[in-house]
Amino acid sequence: MADETADRAAGRDFIRDIVQADLDAGRQSAIVTRFPPEPNGFLHMGHAKSICLNFGVAEEFGGRCHLRMDDTNPTKEEQAYIDAIKRDVEWLGFTWGAHYYHASDYFEQLYDWAVHLIKAGKAYVDDQSQAEMRHSRGTLTEPGTNSPFRERPIAESLDLFQRMRAREFPNGTRVLRAKIDMASGNINLRDPVLYRILHAEHPRTGTAWCIYPSYDYAHGQSDAIEGVTHSLCTLEFEDHRPLYDWFLENLPVPSRPRQYEFARLNVTHTVLSKRVLTELVRGGHVVGWDDPRMPTLAGMRRRGVPPEAIRDFVKRVGVAKANSIVDYGMFEFSVREILNKSAQRRMAVLKPLKLVIENYPEGKVEEMVAANHPEDPAAGSRMVPFSREIYIERDDFMEHPPKKFFRLSPGKEVRLRYAYFVTCKEVVKDARGEIVELRCTYDPETRGGNTPPDGRKVQATLHWVSAAQAVEGEVRLYEHLFTRPDPDATNFADEINPNSLEVVANAKLEPAIAADNGNSPVQFERLGYFHLDQDSKPGKPVLNRTVGLRDTWAKVSGTKTPAGGTKR
Ligand code: ATP
Ligand code: MG
Repeated sequence: MADETADRAAGRDFIRDIVQADLDAGRQSAIVTRFPPEPNGFLHMGHAKSICLNFGVAEEFGGRCHLRMDDTNPTKEEQAYIDAIKRDVEWLGFTWGAHYYHASDYFEQLYDWAVHLIKAGKAYVDDQSQAEMRHSRGTLTEPGTNSPFRERPIAESLDLFQRMRAREFPNGTRVLRAKIDMASGNINLRDPVLYRILHAEHPRTGTAWCIYPSYDYAHGQSDAIEGVTHSLCTLEFEDHRPLYDWFLENLPVPSRPRQYEFARLNVTHTVLSKRVLTELVRGGHVVGWDDPRMPTLAGMRRRGVPPEAIRDFVKRVGVAKANSIVDYGMFEFSVREILNKSAQRRMAVLKPLKLVIENYPEGKVEEMVAANHPEDPAAGSRMVPFSREIYIERDDFMEHPPKKFFRLSPGKEVRLRYAYFVTCKEVVKDARGEIVELRCTYDPETRGGNTPPDGRKVQATLHWVSAAQAVEGEVRLYEHLFTRPDPDATNFADEINPNSLEVVANAKLEPAIAADNGNSPVQFERLGYFHLDQDSKPGKPVLNRTVGLRDTWAKVSGTKTPAGGTKR
């Protein structure tokens, strides 16, 4: 374990070691990898791991990485997914240059190679029904049994395979199978299916084909055609490797790629399965693939997660050979690391309580200087209007405070950030006894929030927004999409966190927020990092909270404020 941690810090892992060794030994002169998504959904965090690994290895070893759409199942694939995948890979920070491919580019070659296998007596057309095939396949403990069509003459298989292509047969009536070993201990080698009949329109090849290659048959040969040297995939394909190799050894392929397997990324409180994510979208459980609660790259982008944070997270997780589940908090850590450096500070009040400063002149507006970034003077400053009536966070006031409550309460003095010290003189309530307003006084000698000449100290600094100049905005606060750390993928609908989205309809924002360039992340002081959502309209910004200032989820029992802010 210690070794793995050290490896990660040095950016090394077993895959990179293999690549290095191949280069050192002269087994390869140039490294070629590929990222091969099936365009049947949007990319998620797990894919980000694969992208960073494949493109990262190519970059580090001076090779290249191909983007290849694994488009062999036209019933599930769409052009919209292809477009989204390309957009997301680029957003994450990688380019494939001229090396953009589709498995469907190779349909003709794959067909010819299937004919080659038939002619060599290594593939045959099977007329069994799907149920019969499933039955004769055997189990993990029992060998399979040969199909009655296994020994049919080569010429007959050739003829049938050509007629399968020529649209003579309906879906599911015949398949082409490799003739390997029905008794193999590895089920993948029990005469796997190479081609099935599927009368479906393909996003790229249209109706040119009605037979489509299986993943196993298409994948390795596509790698070989492209000259891929290291074909990196997730652990569930380990048992497929003998089949991957069998095809390459039995076909006249132009190059000899090698498959290596690494652990999938799993993250708590979310699911990284395209099937489940698709059902979340189709079932209306989320607003779409780019819902900010989704673990998709599009969702994370909309939420305000910078691509650097995803790359940083993936790097921290590292590449290992054993599956594990990573705490979502680790991802948030990376997001905060990046945003803390890049996000300018602003002030916003999510749950407003009006505060009237009785000794401050009516109608007067002062512009207070506020630093854009406490650790980065180069980020400069902005002016924030201050006046007699301001909003503070409702949770920053308590009429009857417990001992350790340091914020505002009757008779208490606090600092308003960048403005003045104020003291609460009176609490105004409505007929129902709800607090509607605080009457305060301010000390003019504390301008800028500075300590007065008498050296008086306060225990709290509050954020605030001037009432007259406040811009109203909608703020969307998010929690985990799934309540449990390991949601049950078969029963996921019952496990969705009912509080995963909280909408604050009328947050009060300092004017600079509305004026901000939409793509820059901001930190609302004491509340977290926020990002303008695409639902924003002129004069009515909508902001997503990307992440809180620290992990509030773990401490949800009591310390978390309703506004989601941190208590200090
Ligand atoms: P499904 O979610 O149905 O299992 P998939 O995630 O495998 O599908 P693909 O489009 O085939 O979808 O994935 C493209 C590549 O991303 C594959 O090489 C796959 O191994 C890799 N990948 C997918 N999920 C993860 C994950 N969680 N962690 C790491 N790599 C992943
Ligand atoms: Mg897959």
